[in-house]
Amino acid sequence: MRSSHLTRVGVGANGTRSGMFHFAGGGPAWATCGKCAAFCRAGGIGGAAGRPFEGEPSITVHGVCNKVKEYTNRWGKPFPSNSLACKYFIKREN
Ligand code: SF4
Repeated sequence: MRSSHLTRVGVGANGTRSGMFHFAGGGPAWATCGKCAAFCRAGGIGGAAGRPFEGEPSITVHGVCNKVKEYTNRWGKPFPSNSLACKYFIKREN
C-alpha cells in the first residue's frame, strides 16, 4: 500500500539524499546540487570520480560531493543533481 505520509526510500523527509554533505534545503531557494561547485562526476561512463562538470549538467545526472571527500577522505554515494542544495552550497562559476 502506498501512502503520501511515508518517507520515500533513500530520500530524507526534506529531500536529503544519502551522499550529500548536509541537509537539503539549507542553500538559496533556487539552488540545486547541480549548480554547486562541489558537485563532481561520479565516475563510470563519462569520467573518473571527482572530475568537475564543465558547467551545470543540462539533464539530471548522478554525481558526488567534493565536500564529503574533503571531510572524510572518501567519495560518498552518488546522488542526483536536482537535489535541493545544502547550506554549504558554493555557487558554480562556470
Ligand atoms: S549543495 Fe554542494 S556542498 Fe551541499 S551537498 Fe550539494 S554538492 Fe555538496
